[in-house]
Amino acid sequence: MRKDVRILLVGEPKVGKTSLIMSLVSEEFPDEVPLRAEEITIPADVTPERVPTHIVDYSEAEQSDEQLYQEITKANVICIIYSVNNKKSIEKVTSHWIPLINERTDKDSRVPLILVGNKSDLVEHSSMETILPIMNQYSDIETCVECSAKNLKNISELFYYAQKAVLHPTGPLYSPEEKEMKPSCIKALTRIFKISDLDNDGILNDNELNFFQRTCFNIPLAPQALEDVKNVVRKNMSDGVKDNGLTRKGFLFLHTLFIQRGRHETTWTVLRRFGYDDDLELTQEYLFPLLKIPPDCTTELNHNAYLFLQSVFDKHDKDRDCSLSPDELKDLFKVFPYMPWGPDVNYTVCTNEQGWITYQGYLSQWTLTTYLDVQRCLEYLGYLGYSIIQEQESQAAAITITRNKRIDLQKKQTQRSVFRCNVLGARGSGKSGFLQAFLGRNLARQKRIREDHKSYYAISTTYVYGQEKYLLLHEVLPDFEFLSEADMACDVVCLVYDISNPCSFEYCTKVYKKHYMDSKTPCMIIAAKSDLHEARQYYSLSPLDFCRKHKLHPPQLFTCNTAEAPSKDIYTKLTTMAMYPHAKLRCMCSCNRCTFCICHNLLNSELVRSVKAKIYSAVLNRHMTQADLKNSTFWLRASVGATVFAVLGFAMYKALLKQR
Ligand code: GDP
Ligand code: MG
Repeated sequence: MRKDVRILLVGEPKVGKTSLIMSLVSEEFPDEVPLRAEEITIPADVTPERVPTHIVDYSEAEQSDEQLYQEITKANVICIIYSVNNKKSIEKVTSHWIPLINERTDKDSRVPLILVGNKSDLVEHSSMETILPIMNQYSDIETCVECSAKNLKNISELFYYAQKAVLHPTGPLYSPEEKEMKPSCIKALTRIFKISDLDNDGILNDNELNFFQRTCFNIPLAPQALEDVKNVVRKNMSDGVKDNGLTRKGFLFLHTLFIQRGRHETTWTVLRRFGYDDDLELTQEYLFPLLKIPPDCTTELNHNAYLFLQSVFDKHDKDRDCSLSPDELKDLFKVFPYMPWGPDVNYTVCTNEQGWITYQGYLSQWTLTTYLDVQRCLEYLGYLGYSIIQEQESQAAAITITRNKRIDLQKKQTQRSVFRCNVLGARGSGKSGFLQAFLGRNLARQKRIREDHKSYYAISTTYVYGQEKYLLLHEVLPDFEFLSEADMACDVVCLVYDISNPCSFEYCTKVYKKHYMDSKTPCMIIAAKSDLHEARQYYSLSPLDFCRKHKLHPPQLFTCNTAEAPSKDIYTKLTTMAMYPHAKLRCMCSCNRCTFCICHNLLNSELVRSVKAKIYSAVLNRHMTQADLKNSTFWLRASVGATVFAVLGFAMYKALLKQR
């Protein structure tokens, strides 16, 4: 809303402009007035709309045309005063004042006009008969009013209407010629209806109406008032009320009624609460609340935000198949001004057999947007009405900013739940296949993906020690000359080569030496297309020897040419490395004996079962007390690394269960 209002009074000499201002200020009729009143400012707290209001007088005798024009351009609303007992002053409204004002103002941003008939104390009859045709002719005329400076009739009303015309303009809402709401207003109110229709059944039931009322006006609606509202709608249209709730048609009708009865401030309150400005666009402040992201921090959605997104999903998954059909997805995004997700999203996240985004995929895509482009995420949450439905200050309340990664590294612990893995490799080495396999697609399914629907990202969840984490795979284009250090930043790196192509490994060695050899980022070499015949790589060292030399895990065989969905093991491994990067120094093998390998085979292997048994006894032998268990720093220090800690943690948990 505007910060202040500037009201200008114009009209023929002696119609009573100065007297009106004086009467308002002193609450009595001044017998003598100067030619022109000084500009006065009414402080916010004494005006009905609580906005400082400037009132500006005009006098032909004291001011030049140039000064008048300047005042016209500065004004937010202009009152054209005539005297009801002076025909000439009425004629001048259309012959002089309206054309003069229109010439001085932009066609697109016309100031609202108010026609004021002063000196109503002098006549018996009303001037309305003459005035109404003028009102119908000029849509800029907001309203008209008859008043008297002498007996103080309608004086405060006049200034209230003027204030209202600026603060709650009718122009954007309503077309007086067509006697109906304007399309942009219908669009905005329809979006508001959809957001408020929490169960998406096309009807605002009593609960939803009450919630709506409370969010917009801060007061609940009395049960009788609720019935009255519905009855008004029922009386006027057949399909405005259905199943004892308000339909979209009924909701729109109600607002048309508000506007027609001059109560458009009600509609404006609703529109503003949902983020709209005077042009019925969502404001920048609403869509993009301030959020500062320090360096080396990432952005994630918090628990509340996931709950909200879950409810949005549920309300649109009409057939309850835990995925969104194209129609359901379209319906979900109807509150957006554009479709935010293109076909590539279906190849960035998990889908069902029909290729529709699953619940899991839907949350993954939101996670991805939050991580890569938090501003966009704020914007999207704004379209969904997050802050209104969740009763939060703004969408910023949905975001968790993780702590600086350097602190995570120092403490060897992380609270993050999204980890980024860059996937690099020569052209054709199998990077895209590696990404799609993470989404459960084997080679046969991947072949059906259209070239223009391909995505360079894949995101889904993995479980690391029972915790759900997101792994975000990013396929980096092979021309790494062009890549900046920022592009290369990530939590774990995959270097992919094609075992059947002898020239493909060299690329991995180059990228490794150029970007990751001296960094703390853990690296994994992926020997892709392991279903094909292995060729000897043209490079001075074999991939295994290269890994040994650089203390990397040995190359991991990988293929997506499988009958079923490819295995997820490798992705869990990558997430674990991303979470515990320092574990890399301790593991150079796939021996199934070291901590790294143990962790990944945690529940299955015989070997681990015996190791676990040893840990149990070690734990019990130490006569662990509850206090010790809580004091995790002790275990951190005592353990050789965080991965060991995690195994111990798991064992301790089991041991505790047993004790019970
Ligand atoms: P301005 O030139 O438009 O500013 O008009 P003024 O305020 O100077 O008023 C012109 C004359 O009309 C003065 O003699 C006022 O006393 C008189 N006047 C102003 N308002 C009223 C009114 O409401 N009723 C009557 N009867 N006289 C008024
Ligand atoms: Mg005057």
